[in-house]
Formats: sequence, structure tokens, C-alpha cells
Amino acid sequence: MKVPKSIRIAGHEIKIVYKDSLSSDGTPCVGLAFLSQDRIELARTIEGVPLSNDQLATAFLHEALHIISTLHSLAFNEKKVTALEVALYPFLHENKLKF
Ligand SMILES: [Zn+2]
Repeated sequence: MKVPKSIRIAGHEIKIVYKDSLSSDGTPCVGLAFLSQDRIELARTIEGVPLSNDQLATAFLHEALHIISTLHSLAFNEKKVTALEVALYPFLHENKLKF
């Protein structure tokens, strides 16, 4: 899956921006969602190692799920977002789904 430059979620135009590396509370991470700025940030590397296309795609899906959860008042916690990412990525990827 190729990560798009932007996506629409519930009327928001969310831009996908790449950074050399990212961290959350001092811990390296692969993606961050900033809903107030309509932006998802993805890391090009984690701890100096370049991310694979699959890692970027799953990070993108994960951050998009955080935004979907917020905009649709689903209140998914981190565990649920991660579980959905793990469930949905192979479902979308292996079935090459396009709607
Ligand atoms: Zn998360």
C-alpha cells in the first residue's frame, strides 16, 4: 500500500507529513496524529533504521484510526487502535480492497 499525501476523514483534510524521526514522551515512535492541526506525521527512520513500506503503511493506518476514533466519538484506547490496525491491515492489504 502506498501512503497517500492526504486523506479525508469526517470532513477533515488530513495531511501526511514525513519527519526523519519521531518520539512520544521521549520514546521513539513511527507515527503521531495531530488532529487539531489535521496532520499525521510518519517517521522515515526509527532508532536510525529506515522504515519499510509495510511499517509506514501500518503506522499510517494506526494514526488514521486514532483520528477516526476521535472524529466519530468512538473513544478507542491505544490497545483498541493497535488491535484494529493488526486486524484491518491484512484485511485491506491481502484482499487489495478498493471501494
Ligand atoms: Zn497509537
